[in-house]
Amino acid sequence: MGCDILCSRYMTSIAANLQAVRERIGAACLAAGRSKDSVSLLAVSKTWPAASLREAAAAGQLAFGENYVQEAIDKIATLADPALEWHFIGPLQSNKTRAVAENFAWVHSVDRLKIAERLSAQRPSGMPPLKLCLQVNVSGEASKSGCTPVEAPGLAAAIARLPGVTLKGLMAIPEPTDDVTLQRRRFALLRETLGTINTELGGGLDTLSMGMSDDLEAAIMEGASIVRIGTAIFGQRQYQT
Ligand SMILES: *Cc1c(COP(=O)(O)O)cnc(C)c1O
Repeated sequence: MGCDILCSRYMTSIAANLQAVRERIGAACLAAGRSKDSVSLLAVSKTWPAASLREAAAAGQLAFGENYVQEAIDKIATLADPALEWHFIGPLQSNKTRAVAENFAWVHSVDRLKIAERLSAQRPSGMPPLKLCLQVNVSGEASKSGCTPVEAPGLAAAIARLPGVTLKGLMAIPEPTDDVTLQRRRFALLRETLGTINTELGGGLDTLSMGMSDDLEAAIMEGASIVRIGTAIFGQRQYQT
């Protein structure tokens, strides 16, 4: 981007950026012939301070995605707002599952059964089931995170049997590319994988968590139900993940 005026506007006007993102989502839904209520916006707030999230919340954004467990726990405690909904979207190691099971409503980045089993066992019984998405690698060799599309149905069947968690659908982070045709092919593969799983499990999974700041239109064309947007809301992060 490299534009000082644009970047400073991003950093000072979270509410305006949110409005612009909502308009992009609305336009993409219109182009795709979908209702705009069929796509929900997850604000990805990794690296941003609690004050930025408060600003977004004041503008009506209540669902936040975080990638780092300790950073997220600190913000959840600082904001202490029961209206906020917390989604864990980063790589999850076994030794961090308890904090996630106790503090989040969703985990999008489940990539193996062991993690789902730990989240299931560690979800406090007084809380509603933790909503899970299975992360699928739709980019082949170009990416390392997520199970393969071939592994997904078996893993989904095993996760769907666990107590304390509810499998909602699939998530993907395709490799970045400006090629819209390739973007759509990756997202279509996630949609098709969800279709295969629903056929095998008898339906019920309705979530496709896909699309970020640079490719949300392609994701919505291919059926995204949650788009995860960071930069277009909060601005350029000082460090990348
Ligand atoms: C950082 C991140 C996003 C947001 O990316 P932007 O390009 O800033 O919109 C979405 N999903 C995941 C898993 C991320 O780590």
